[in-house]
Amino acid sequence: MMDSKANLKKFCRFSVDNRTYNGSIRGNMVDIVEGDLFSDLSDMRMSFPVDRIKFLPPIIPTKVWCVGVNYASHMREMGHEPPREPLIFMKPRTSVVGGGDPVRVPEWVGRVDYEGELAVVIGKKARNVTEFEAMSCVKGYSCYNDVTARDLQKDNHWIRAKGFDTFGPFGPAILVTDKLPDDTKLTTRLNGSVVQQDTISSMIFPIRQIISYISRFATLEPGDVIATGTPSGVGRVKPGDVVDIEIDGIGTLSNPFISD
Ligand code: MG
Repeated sequence: MMDSKANLKKFCRFSVDNRTYNGSIRGNMVDIVEGDLFSDLSDMRMSFPVDRIKFLPPIIPTKVWCVGVNYASHMREMGHEPPREPLIFMKPRTSVVGGGDPVRVPEWVGRVDYEGELAVVIGKKARNVTEFEAMSCVKGYSCYNDVTARDLQKDNHWIRAKGFDTFGPFGPAILVTDKLPDDTKLTTRLNGSVVQQDTISSMIFPIRQIISYISRFATLEPGDVIATGTPSGVGRVKPGDVVDIEIDGIGTLSNPFISD
């Protein structure tokens, strides 16, 4: 059987030789494309090997939304009560970095954790959409690390604990499709060892419900990103560590952590 994902574009932005391009990942190569995520993409017939380029965040999000406590396994490990509705918070744009970029950890923040997550990229304005309409607003999917200063989070000041510069690695590419298979697997590795693994069907609130929920109080816009929560297995990351977040069909987001 043909892989139905084979023809889907994996949109990225990258720099090489001090120039910045939009691209499409094809195996170990990146093709330069004309156009952006929200227009038609045309191939420029010029490619680079992935190991020669530097990934940038695939888009600069208009807003970064996050969902807290969206996997039962993570809810149990954190001792949270079952949420009655999606718990929504935001991260500033200054937290966004791309694949390969260092996450800078200030010395005074105490424990810092990785949180591997699936990111949804919104492609069309959504206000008061039903769950039935919600998926038509999705442009694509990417990997996201909701880096969290866990000690600071205890004061319930989530936007500070999660909003530090560089605490939102995103990428390396956006798989352009409105629907992922339910058995799509998310895997987080800390220095090469698997620390988180689950399928996206384990979410407490599915993507269609999250989009509908947010759209009832704030307009979702093209370029908004929604990080959909992390499964169990969150843990501490220290300067010198590398965290990889791999999602089937999308790719691997890899970031070193350094002290700041
Ligand atoms: Mg999270």
